[in-house]
Amino acid sequence: MLSAIVGINWGDEGKGRIVDLLSENYDIVCRYQGGNNAGHTVINERGKFILNLLPSGILRETTVNVMGNGMVIDLEHLTGEIERVREKGIKITPDNLKISDKAIICLPYHKFMDIIEEDRLGDKKFGSTRRGIGPVYADKYMKKDIRMEDLFDEASLREKIYDLVEWKNITVKGYGKDAVNPDDILAWLDKFGSVIKPYVTDVSKYLYKACDENKNIMFEAQLGALRDIEFGIYPYTSSSTTLSAYAPIGAGIPGKQIDCSLGIMKAYSTCVGEGPFTCEMFGEEAEELRRAGGEYGAATGRPRRVGPFDVVASKYGVLVQGATEIALTKLDVLSYLDKIPVCTAYDIDGEITTDFPSGVRLKKAKPIVEYFDGFGEVSHCRTYGELPENAKKYIKYIEEAVNCKIKYISVGAERDEYIEIK
Ligand code: GDP
Ligand code: MG
Repeated sequence: MLSAIVGINWGDEGKGRIVDLLSENYDIVCRYQGGNNAGHTVINERGKFILNLLPSGILRETTVNVMGNGMVIDLEHLTGEIERVREKGIKITPDNLKISDKAIICLPYHKFMDIIEEDRLGDKKFGSTRRGIGPVYADKYMKKDIRMEDLFDEASLREKIYDLVEWKNITVKGYGKDAVNPDDILAWLDKFGSVIKPYVTDVSKYLYKACDENKNIMFEAQLGALRDIEFGIYPYTSSSTTLSAYAPIGAGIPGKQIDCSLGIMKAYSTCVGEGPFTCEMFGEEAEELRRAGGEYGAATGRPRRVGPFDVVASKYGVLVQGATEIALTKLDVLSYLDKIPVCTAYDIDGEITTDFPSGVRLKKAKPIVEYFDGFGEVSHCRTYGELPENAKKYIKYIEEAVNCKIKYISVGAERDEYIEIK
């Protein structure tokens, strides 16, 4: 079975936690897009892990993890991440970590370009994570990146890097910055590439074979539907395709189709970085929710913007992710509220709509907020029956509003703190 586990909202829905929970049932977990611009937090009996690049299945002993061709990989970051995870007793070998030979390498100058451009933009910045993701994907489509496979031929790598840096320095000069030295890039590639090379392989061959053997494969998304480059809140999106439909392509098995798309949806809303966030709350109300949910970025530590559950955005997220079922996360965080706000529709120049808009119309949208009765403590609940009536009402309402069945409800960050609805 091929399943995608994807974000329905703006990211940070708790995907890492759900993948960790469900990865037990899968032989293989694949990452298919993005780089180290996001973080998944996983807490289990072995400790707390923040994973930026490694698939969350790395924490299960028998799971094989794949980093697909759709990813952009900063070798230095990956080296550090492997070390940090290993320090906690996790085994990482070429048997349980396979990196696509076609995955793109995110170079130090991509990070540099990201930073100097965000700084140039000042007030108009995109809210980039400054890790080079936008620039490296842009270069991918210019066909001016190097891929993992390039690490294996020293002479051609040298030639490529010299050519690329010469081209890149035209832009660097335009910013009034010191030219990049190609030998520095080559030294960096040598230092970190030598650590990563043993994991690089033809993952497509491995995955097609796994499909033939009816292995269970899970595709793990990073970031949510609303950050998708094409269907998200462009231009405040990521630079890659975060949607489930892209999963087989980004992982390395184009032509295969997913059987199931599990959408991870948060019981309220959060958003990191810039861009329209219609349901946003401010002031003390926001601060309380942020504190209750511990809403500070896993990758960057930035305080996340927060708001109530957004029906309009979530219904859209469910649609574009082709979600066949939902895991609703962080329900416990709402326990402190007497009245639970929900953004049920948008008002755009006086027109009330539940269709998610884009562009200027999205910027103009104002939230219409309704209130549900609070439900108190839920973190102890392990079955649907144990949930307070008002929590059931909230869940039922959401299920109908987004038009998708809720299969899991997460009531805490620990591995066992969840409810499966049978
Ligand atoms: P991801 O990027 O989608 O994997 O999500 P993040 O890891 O960035 O953010 C989710 C945060 O919420 C992490 O700190 C998790 O440990 C935590 N978390 C996940 N599920 C729950 C839950 O049901 N309740 C609570 N209280 N925390 C949760
Ligand atoms: Mg995250």
